[in-house]
Amino acid sequence: NETVLEVTDLKKYFPVTGGILNRHVSDVKAVDGVNFGLESGETLGLVGESGCGKSTLGKTVLRLHDPTDGRIEFLGTDITSTSRSELRDVRRNLQIVFQDPASSLNPRMTVAELIQEPMRSLTDWSTDKRESRTLELIEEVGLNESHLRRSPHEFSGGQQQRIAIARALSVNPRLVVADEPTSALDVSVQAKILNLMDDLQDTYDLTYLFISHDLSVIKHICDRVAVMYLGELVEVAPTDRLFDDPKHPYTQSLLSAVPRASAQSSDDRIVLEGDVPSPESPPSGCRFHTRCPKYIGEVCEDETPELDEIESNHWCACHLHD
Ligand code: SF4
Ligand code: MG
Repeated sequence: NETVLEVTDLKKYFPVTGGILNRHVSDVKAVDGVNFGLESGETLGLVGESGCGKSTLGKTVLRLHDPTDGRIEFLGTDITSTSRSELRDVRRNLQIVFQDPASSLNPRMTVAELIQEPMRSLTDWSTDKRESRTLELIEEVGLNESHLRRSPHEFSGGQQQRIAIARALSVNPRLVVADEPTSALDVSVQAKILNLMDDLQDTYDLTYLFISHDLSVIKHICDRVAVMYLGELVEVAPTDRLFDDPKHPYTQSLLSAVPRASAQSSDDRIVLEGDVPSPESPPSGCRFHTRCPKYIGEVCEDETPELDEIESNHWCACHLHD
């Protein structure tokens, strides 16, 4: 399979300034040395608590943030430091769907204008081509031609997300980063949007990086899952494997908090102690050591565990598996 995206040792730090001179005092290490690849047509889930850096990682991959360090290769081309003007061609292939469609869709534009805008700014397509593409897409996302002249605020949240998806897909991207695309929607609508995204993936041969804190959503749509904690990936595995046999204590605790269909005794639940530490001064060694229920001693505080392939296609960063 073709590799769509290759991310190597990617870092994104945000400077923190302070004092009356507004000096640079430290950095928030939102993404701190992340490695992963994405194959054409797959869906990789990125999961973790809020503030773990998953949205920053998604935006940095799209070059909506400039990376601090590391390398991003998209379809074999290094885009780590491509200039804004040269990003136009890349941007066409890299689109994003945000969490809240109401705020990502300009209320002063019609649905037709919203869907056509990326085509106008990122392609040289003729008016005819843009119009036929718009008609095709509005049907593909389960709406119809009569909706095109209306304003986005006349629609429900689920319909707005359908419009946002049509807009993202208008330019035929290869990769779509979906950042919590169903979190703002009613539960009854979530599955419909996920199924729509799944269908569109097959139709358009899309690759998804799917960001969510919701494990049931991740389980529903993803082929593989990457678990993030304080700016780092701690476990990456095929979805079934990750849910059946999680190897990292952090993943185990996340999964234990998910209600399962089968009766589960409360003894199975792992309740994490303490708050998530600040990404400005993350704990030494394993960043999870301040909360880990399986802490095995000084090695956890002194040595940073590498993300190692502990079984075929199953990667984990924990000294328990050294
Ligand atoms: Fe827990 Fe140590 Fe493994 Fe970190 S390295 S997850 S602290 S056992
Ligand atoms: Mg799929």
